[in-house]
Amino acid sequence: MEHAPARLTLSSGLVDCAIVNWDLAQAIVQADAAARRAKTTGRNRTVLVDGAQLDEVQARLQVAQQLDNATRYELINPHGQPIVDLRTGAPIGMEMLFRPSAGVLEGVSPQRCINVAEETGLIDAIGLRMLRSACTLLRHPRVANSAMVVNVNLSVHQLMREQLVEQAIGLIETEGVAANRICLEITESHWLDTDGPSRRVLTRLLDRGFLLALDDFGTGYASLVLLRAFPFNHVKVDRSFVQNLGETREASALCSAMLEMGRACGLQVTAEGVETEEQRRILTELGYIRGQGYLFARPQPEDSLPDLLREMLSNAQQES
Ligand code: C2E
Ligand code: CA
Ligand code: CA
Repeated sequence: MEHAPARLTLSSGLVDCAIVNWDLAQAIVQADAAARRAKTTGRNRTVLVDGAQLDEVQARLQVAQQLDNATRYELINPHGQPIVDLRTGAPIGMEMLFRPSAGVLEGVSPQRCINVAEETGLIDAIGLRMLRSACTLLRHPRVANSAMVVNVNLSVHQLMREQLVEQAIGLIETEGVAANRICLEITESHWLDTDGPSRRVLTRLLDRGFLLALDDFGTGYASLVLLRAFPFNHVKVDRSFVQNLGETREASALCSAMLEMGRACGLQVTAEGVETEEQRRILTELGYIRGQGYLFARPQPEDSLPDLLREMLSNAQQES
């Protein structure tokens, strides 16, 4: 049997010690973080930490320390944002989103926390905490007997670690939750190796029954490659397309094309970031059924989610 030739690429992080006044241990941690940045920003490249980036690097270090504390002492407060039926507003799904507890990491956006967590490896602990939160919601009597699927964001860094599979499976088994009630969202804008360790890890998770969503659909450069490479169940059309609905004709055309493309591949399609009634109207006219956004609900703390779901369901029933 012939094998395709192996292609080796090198992603590296360099610290210029002549400029940056760190001891060896700090320099190694920073070089490692820079190497991780090189991997998430395209691979086969070098990220250099020099004087120009010092302030940013120091700010990241501070965030990393606070995040380390937050994961160590359980100072994480997962939130959930419903996915709704656009026609009725009834909740049909939920996405779990990372939030630190009150008073921790104040003024630092969740996205920035996640970026730093990815660089430092803390994303593994955060990811498991978010998965646990999804299981807790799925075990709630109001949700357990419904068909609701709960989505958890999964970063490409987590997929580079084979351990993730055992940890994720161990967790859902302990929690007594079926894998097909959990959908893993992978963002398109991150580079996803379609043939390396991340593929192996992802395939094992899918073999175990987890569902898969392509997040931020339309923002990356590899949508079609990814859709062909992995058995996705679901795509989420990025908010940047929804934002311009009603303002530009291109926005409608693009949202329509993405819906068609998703459906042609047999996938569920969710429009993200729906903020106005007009966006909702246009999306329903285009044929969208699933949506998510501030118009329906902002992300809410995990404890309040069962009540939020009940309230949204009862409002939807009253309106219909
Ligand atoms: P995302 O996965 O695309 O999540 C949607 C983001 O859009 C969330 O921001 C949400 O609060 C926000 N959003 C929802 N509806 C609206 C809307 O109508 N208008 C606007 N302007 N924004 C809306 P958030 O929570 O700040 O998260 C940002 C990103 O951080 C997420 O984008 C995701 O990529 C990442 N992230 C968040 N939690 C996790 C996590 O637990 N694990 C991983 N790996 N990434 C996460
Ligand atoms: Ca997401
Ligand atoms: Ca998204």
